[in-house]
Amino acid sequence: MCGAEAGMGIAIPASGQDMMDKPARWEVMQEKRTIYMDNAATTPVHPEVLEAMLPYFTERYGNPSSVYSLARESRKAVEEAREKVAKAIGATPGEIFFTSGGTESDNWAIKGCAWASGKKGGHIITSSIEHHAVLHTCQYLEKNGFSVTYLPVDEYGLVNPADVEAAVTDRTVLISVMYANNEIGTMEPVREIGAVARDHGIPFHTDAVQAVGHVPVDVNQENIDLLSLSGHKFNGPKGVGALYIRKGTRIGTYEHGGGQEKRRRAGTENVPAIVGLGKAVESATAEIPEVSARVSRMRDRLIRGLLSTIPHSRLNGHPEKRLPGNANVSFEFVEGESMLLLLDSIGVSASTGSACTSGSLEPSHVLLAIGLPHEKAHGSLRFTLSGDTTGGDVDYVLLHLPGIVDRLRQMSPLYKPDEKEVKCNVQ
Ligand SMILES: *Cc1c(COP(=O)(O)O)cnc(C)c1O
Repeated sequence: MCGAEAGMGIAIPASGQDMMDKPARWEVMQEKRTIYMDNAATTPVHPEVLEAMLPYFTERYGNPSSVYSLARESRKAVEEAREKVAKAIGATPGEIFFTSGGTESDNWAIKGCAWASGKKGGHIITSSIEHHAVLHTCQYLEKNGFSVTYLPVDEYGLVNPADVEAAVTDRTVLISVMYANNEIGTMEPVREIGAVARDHGIPFHTDAVQAVGHVPVDVNQENIDLLSLSGHKFNGPKGVGALYIRKGTRIGTYEHGGGQEKRRRAGTENVPAIVGLGKAVESATAEIPEVSARVSRMRDRLIRGLLSTIPHSRLNGHPEKRLPGNANVSFEFVEGESMLLLLDSIGVSASTGSACTSGSLEPSHVLLAIGLPHEKAHGSLRFTLSGDTTGGDVDYVLLHLPGIVDRLRQMSPLYKPDEKEVKCNVQ
């Protein structure tokens, strides 16, 4: 009756209650699935990659620049990783330079070529759908006396090599067009663009961060002079990448300091990460034929399922020339962010266009560049599948997303289902 007794009375059963609650809560957690469909944003480190890295944090901690045997072990590991990266893209080890990731590689390629050209008022050609690591670097150079042509793309996101040719001037110091777009998955005609660059003796850079480890890439067959790649997009660690620099390409140094990476990129090597990058790129490229076939089948099932069950939906990006794991779909009369939250509540991780634009009200520059009006661009979802995605995962999304879209549309003042759609719903 009294306060203290009541307090104790509550306290004791409360903990008992808590214990009784646990199994129920645990069941809910087990029921709630985790379906990760945001592999274009990042991927988990593969267990065998982690295993390869671990000794280089502890017992093999030598600085590769030192002279004793402990250091030689580290140096050997770095050089083995360099060979693996080179092999994955058809390069030679001497043309591979380790960096802190895709962003640094893009910055180095673009600023390095701009500065090395020695041409005052140099000109750069790029596309309007590049990753911000390329676009913002180009915008920075524009503020520093360079001029930049941002080529348009067609409705599928393709750059026309003839437009590249037409944009070339005698001041052009670099052509930079991405290998595959991170939002809509479109794969660009890199070989043809590289041929244009080569005809004019202009270096050609490609941001291949979404491509390496997912589709076959060959710098010689595809006329590539500079190529950016990043470990965490193919089950390697974050914060490590590489820039391929074709032998003989004129490029300035971006990071000054010690003599690492042949005096071209200073700073003590991130040995464990570089080892992980090497292991990851080796495994991912070996598995491309099997994984890409399987993943693209699931991607197509997801796309077909969404388009056939959800009215007022459309696929973004090219129907065939697209990355194996990318499905980007727009749904009219709904906000991407609302769909994401509801998907998250049932355990599905996806993205609206690009992680970099989430949190801002501006729709994706890529979706606007392919001609989507603002409303449609806002209602877009990107699902990026991997070799770990199962048919059950795809079915789960296909089971739940139509209801989510419908629920959100019922709340939208803009949504007036026409007769045809109403009939579809009745069936
Ligand atoms: C992820 C990504 C980058 C940036 O790479 P980081 O390693 O995260 O810096 C650059 N370009 C494209 C196309 C990407 O998808």
